[in-house]
Amino acid sequence: MSQEKHEFQAEVRQLLKLVVHSLYTHKEVFLRELLSNASDAVDKRRYAALTDPSLAPPESGPNGPYRIVLEAPPGGKTLSVSDNGIGMDRDELQKNLGTIARSGTQEFLERLKAVQGQNAPDLIGQFGVGFYSAFMAAEKVSVVSRKAGQEKAWRWESAGEGEFTLEEAERSEPGTTVELTLRKPEAGEPDFADAALLKRLVKRYSDFVPTPIELAGETLNSMTPLWTKPAKDITPEEHAGFYRRLARESEAPLESIRFSAEGASLRYDALLYVPAKAPLDWLLDPEKRGGIQLYSKRVFIMDDCRGLAPDYLRFLRGVVDCPDLPLNVSRETLQQDRSLGLIQERVTRKTLESLKALLENDRKKYEAFWGQFGRILKEGLYTDSAERDRLKELVLFETSRSEGLSTFKEYSARMPEGQKEVYYLCGDSRAALLQSPHLEALNEKGWEVVFFTDAVDEFVVGLLHDWDGKLLRSAREDLRLDEKHAAREEAEKAHPGLGEVLKSKLSGLAAEVRFSEKLTQSPSALVNEGAPSPAIEKAMRRAGHPVPEGRRILELNPSHPVVEKLAQAAKGDKDAQVVEEYAQLLYGLAALREGLPLPDGGKFSRLVADLMAR
Ligand code: ADP
Repeated sequence: MSQEKHEFQAEVRQLLKLVVHSLYTHKEVFLRELLSNASDAVDKRRYAALTDPSLAPPESGPNGPYRIVLEAPPGGKTLSVSDNGIGMDRDELQKNLGTIARSGTQEFLERLKAVQGQNAPDLIGQFGVGFYSAFMAAEKVSVVSRKAGQEKAWRWESAGEGEFTLEEAERSEPGTTVELTLRKPEAGEPDFADAALLKRLVKRYSDFVPTPIELAGETLNSMTPLWTKPAKDITPEEHAGFYRRLARESEAPLESIRFSAEGASLRYDALLYVPAKAPLDWLLDPEKRGGIQLYSKRVFIMDDCRGLAPDYLRFLRGVVDCPDLPLNVSRETLQQDRSLGLIQERVTRKTLESLKALLENDRKKYEAFWGQFGRILKEGLYTDSAERDRLKELVLFETSRSEGLSTFKEYSARMPEGQKEVYYLCGDSRAALLQSPHLEALNEKGWEVVFFTDAVDEFVVGLLHDWDGKLLRSAREDLRLDEKHAAREEAEKAHPGLGEVLKSKLSGLAAEVRFSEKLTQSPSALVNEGAPSPAIEKAMRRAGHPVPEGRRILELNPSHPVVEKLAQAAKGDKDAQVVEEYAQLLYGLAALREGLPLPDGGKFSRLVADLMAR
């Protein structure tokens, strides 16, 4: 059959251009990418052969039937990576090696272009361009593949420019051979046909690939499944190497978690990692997850097995090997498997314990973790009531006292005598919250306020309820800072009925107008009693939900001079207009401070302008 020409998908063309022309210094990662594709293909065939034994290759070699073979014939012009994995048919070659399905690729390319130069290498390394990275080292790539269970083989070939060709080919066994026609290395560049270099690279990147990788008859990788070793026997280098392959990440993980169960009913080995950084493609694809791989007796079953960890621990990477699971378990039957739930409980508990230990023993590292994944972890406060107390201990926040991060435990230890509740405020940033009128009296008393500044916080604080029996209270609410309400009562005595008058002038905007116990500087503030918080109100508006009006209380600062003026005006009938204007202005000012919309912006600015003119 004749050769067919095909064009690459536009994104692939762009990607190839960048890959080929980038200044990428770690060209060598192409080998890691090809070896892990080969290993994935072997895993897939192994798995397929569980249900259809006719798909298995004949037994050969001391390590079992599966193998990956590197060949770099003398002459130094080519390097090939062959596997006897699942293989690809014609359509798969065309689809897998001609398009990119990954969402977010377009944005990735744009970012990559924007930073061409210094940062491009990091980005490429993090994203993992997979098969296409072969073109960093090769001027031509030829892939011959035969799918397991089929007779026909196909050759895919490309010089990494606009197009690739497809034609029928010969291959005696199922599997895939990727042959690179190497670019001539420039001075100082690595020569990928050099056996010593290949050996080093396999050790470095692919030591835990569970399939033997052979070069000239020698097996280069150790293949030890690290997750079966006791925690104390695993070296940091081994962790880093294993994690690198698992996560395709160049940076070492922040923390490792290793545990096993030996019970009669359920046995498993788990080796989990907390990454040091959220991978770049998480920014591009919010659905993206780290993912825990499920193995059974060292046979890979599936990637990102969701039942193994709750969503709020989705940053975890790792492996759970559970020999009691049936090998041909499907995603659907797994859902119903009770053992998965038991493992998840333990994964959750162990992870939270290890984060707690990190918090106690290495604060800097924990804060780095919190910066990356704190927001995700906080989702657990919402979704996992069983672990809420454990999660609460792990929460970090800024406060009105210091920019640094505190825990509830630390906050609580700093509470001065007399303070019985934990106060908090939600808002956009510490800088914005420091301006809040709700802090005034609390600041004067020296009572610290917790600042919650993540978008999710508004939705979770309500669930926190208390810390060690001390109630959590929003500083936006009606605070009982003075149990006798002396200041409030005194002011009411001095200006009887003033609140009622003002309320009537506000035509339903406020549920009540009264004197405040928490204002010492600002003239007025809106108290949130029973109303949704300003941020939640905003979210409701955005989502098109009706927002009940007039549920907040307008509080006046009894010591502010404007109150005295207002009281005078309210005494004389002829000043009714002034009282109404003052009421509107005081309400408007308070609304602005809360970031709430002005009920009538036009009127407000007219009143301010008039006042300026007077
Ligand atoms: P990724 O491996 O991240 O999915 P790649 O670009 O490296 O992306 O590969 C694209 C797809 O091509 C793979 O998902 C796989 O389906 C297929 N593929 C690549 N190499 C092989 C191989 N050696 N054997 C079988 N399939 C392969």
